Amino acid sequence: MDPLTRSLRNGLVTDKLGRKAHKREQIGWVEQALSAKSSFIVPIRGQASLFYRKPQLRAALFAAPVVRDWISPETLIFLGHYRGKDYFALSILATAQSSWEQLDEGLVFDNLWNRGTLIDQFEASLLAYARGMCYWHDRTKYCGSCGSSTRAERTGHMRTCTNQECGANYFPRTDPAVIVLVHDGDQCLLGNKVGWPTNRFSTIAGFVETGETVEQAVVREVQEETGVNVGLLEYHSSQPWPFPGSLMLGFHAQATSREITLSDGELRDARWFSKTEVVAAKSKNGWLRLPSRLSIARRLVEDWCQT
Ligand SMILES: [Zn+2]
Repeated sequence: MDPLTRSLRNGLVTDKLGRKAHKREQIGWVEQALSAKSSFIVPIRGQASLFYRKPQLRAALFAAPVVRDWISPETLIFLGHYRGKDYFALSILATAQSSWEQLDEGLVFDNLWNRGTLIDQFEASLLAYARGMCYWHDRTKYCGSCGSSTRAERTGHMRTCTNQECGANYFPRTDPAVIVLVHDGDQCLLGNKVGWPTNRFSTIAGFVETGETVEQAVVREVQEETGVNVGLLEYHSSQPWPFPGSLMLGFHAQATSREITLSDGELRDARWFSKTEVVAAKSKNGWLRLPSRLSIARRLVEDWCQT
């Protein structure tokens, strides 16, 4: 299977949404879109998304005319288009939370992390995209160069400093991180982070640092966190991970040493697990608990079990 196909199997990913980047440059169309029943709003409150709990759990998306009075066009973030519908993210204030929850029975704000595996994959990807964009807007309100306020441009895909002498532009930011399933024969290396339940184990992960390649980051992170050395790297796939703003770059890596040394304080425990133990954990037999099915970490583990 090629990396593109593999990536489409990861949680929070869709190939249905057309991003229609050319529409970001068009003037005045968002005002019209707000009156159209084919425009849908994806509300984000802090880092929480809105869900319907009944009759089945799903993302709460609202036709724009229903909530038109609460929205000013310049606050909308155009996400894209699918099957005749335009989707917009909207960051709402904490004070407006109850108004949105009262739009219908059974509405609740919750973290996508908790419910992402329980809803339709297209909707989950939409919530992930909206969450990442709103997070970036919330943290780019002021210019990093001169300290003046910034304003949204290009239907939410750029922010510009309002100080005309400065005029700095800011674009949505994604932080690259590597995540790696280290293997050696019939065993794989998983770590337990400080603060997790003691039986929860996952793949090794960390941010790519300035001045290094993604591949170097894989080797360094595994070495720093577990003391294990890796050689042959195989790129697996990637996954947007808006918790709060990462792109996870997934790898499988062959270990060239086995001794585990926990040195950088990120992990409380790291162990080699056999395929038999991992397969048992997939069906929740035995002691070991694997990462969420939402995460690429789970995909890296499951795909290794198939090899
Ligand atoms: Zn500025």
